[in-house]
Amino acid sequence: MTTKTVEALVVGAGIAGLYQLYKLREAGMQVHCVDAGSDIGGTWHWNCYPGARLDSPSYTYQYWFSDELLDQWRWSERFPTQPEIKRYLKFTADKFALHDQIQLNTRIVGADWDDSAGYWVVRSEAGEVWHAQYLVSCVGMLSAPKLPPFPGHEKFKGTIAHTARWPQGGVDLKGKKVGVVGTGATGIQVIQTIAAEVGELNVFQRTAQYAVKMDNYSLEGERGEYWRSQHENLKNNLPNTFGGFEWTLPEVDWARSLTVHERHELLESCWADGSLKMWVGTYPEVLTDAALNQEVSEFAREKIRARVNNPALEEKLIPTSYGFGTYRVPLENGYYEVFSRDNVNLVDVAETPIEAFSENGLIVGGKEYELDVLVLATGFDAGTGSLTQMNIRGRDGVSLTELWSKDITSTMGLQVHGFPNLFTIAGPLAPATAFCNMPTCLQQQVDWVSDAIFHLRDNGFKSIEPSQAKQDEWVSHHDEVANMTLLVHTNAWYNGANIEGKPRRLLSYIGGVGSYRDLCAQVAASGYQGFIKAA
Ligand code: NAP
Repeated sequence: MTTKTVEALVVGAGIAGLYQLYKLREAGMQVHCVDAGSDIGGTWHWNCYPGARLDSPSYTYQYWFSDELLDQWRWSERFPTQPEIKRYLKFTADKFALHDQIQLNTRIVGADWDDSAGYWVVRSEAGEVWHAQYLVSCVGMLSAPKLPPFPGHEKFKGTIAHTARWPQGGVDLKGKKVGVVGTGATGIQVIQTIAAEVGELNVFQRTAQYAVKMDNYSLEGERGEYWRSQHENLKNNLPNTFGGFEWTLPEVDWARSLTVHERHELLESCWADGSLKMWVGTYPEVLTDAALNQEVSEFAREKIRARVNNPALEEKLIPTSYGFGTYRVPLENGYYEVFSRDNVNLVDVAETPIEAFSENGLIVGGKEYELDVLVLATGFDAGTGSLTQMNIRGRDGVSLTELWSKDITSTMGLQVHGFPNLFTIAGPLAPATAFCNMPTCLQQQVDWVSDAIFHLRDNGFKSIEPSQAKQDEWVSHHDEVANMTLLVHTNAWYNGANIEGKPRRLLSYIGGVGSYRDLCAQVAASGYQGFIKAA
């Protein structure tokens, strides 16, 4: 196969990849984009499981670079479903004629930096090769599905489907005996959606969640018009907030300045918002102060208790082993009511783990649960998995996969020392790994990466990478902020705790989206101080 030469290769055609492609192309660069999927959309292509839906308000979950696009697109509701978000991304790609530069069904399996030539040699599974001065990874932080360790799947005669690899044509669940493993944000969406349709539903739960009741509403009419009138405000303000949403953390000392009653009232209003405001819109201390976290956790438990209204089930469905918000807070719509249905059974696999598959289903504690379909909502090798799978080797053949198998480090989540001209949008140690309304952070990162590339081009440099000292400085700042929070003590994907052997570190920077943006802007304004630029 012939080798193609491009200035920039963008890997991934989701929210970040489409915008990155657009930015570089508009600047006159020769840029090509590849994606392993059979269609564009990234997360919103792969995760087409039943019930998949946004949990950021749609009016904050969009591109801000084109007023025309903002004018032309209409969201139907506050938290739209997966097909609508995919339609939005296709609408964008059509409008800006991006399809010609996107090559689908193309999985990258190797990338080696050639130091003397000053480019990346990138290989696809099919054997295609690109020489690219810049390699921009837009593969997403939740893209490498985690398969559970229980053995014997080859024996099982039924269907197994991971939610992030859900067949595009769907899976017939009607009247079937279905099992769902996993009760994170994904599992909750699946369970509440399919319960009424399936014959029997066994939910295999290891960790219960503090799920907040979603307040979804139509954006047709006045509410939609209101949010459309706010485009300019949202565009300017979202990147300066703590979480990239339309609300921000109040600057009050919760413990000292408010009475218990006032705190309770504030929690009530955040809960009533029916959004992630309850998680990243109350008080910063909720994530740092154990006593206050306990107060909020108890508030959330009371809310769930009122919904479940069954002591035996309450014990299983209400979390007690970790604090509110230290595990990603899911939104739900009818989830708790599902468990009072006759066809639904909650199997607690915390103390008695799932042992193995049998021919007919799953074995737990010696008992066989018969299944026609097993849904795996078991999550991802987050932050790093989609990058390490690409087999990237930097200067002197150093492997990113090996490096990160020992210690997960980066500089602002955007670059790694020893990997010149590799940019990692949504890479580990930036807010975009978990603590951000994704499009807010992805657009900020794409803008930063584009500016860095333009800076090199306009000033006659061929490559850029952070110095070891700059990287050490970032990692130590990241750890300092992370260690002030309660999140480092919870066993969640946030810390890599869901993947055996993965080094522990909070994957996402938690100093706030606005502060992170300022730090990135300072680096650019300084002419990329701390970064090595080669002529
Ligand atoms: P997740 O939060 O990692 O949840 C995985 C679930 O699978 C957990 O309940 C986990 O239990 C369980 N699990 C894994 N291995 C297991 C095993 N061997 N036995 C039993 N249970 C097992 O993954 P997710 O639900 O896919 O969510 C990942 C992230 O995607 C979310 O945190 C969120 O950021 C994002 N998301 C967003 C939306 C949205 O609305 N926009 C929807 C879905 C997901 P343990 O907790 O005990 O490990």
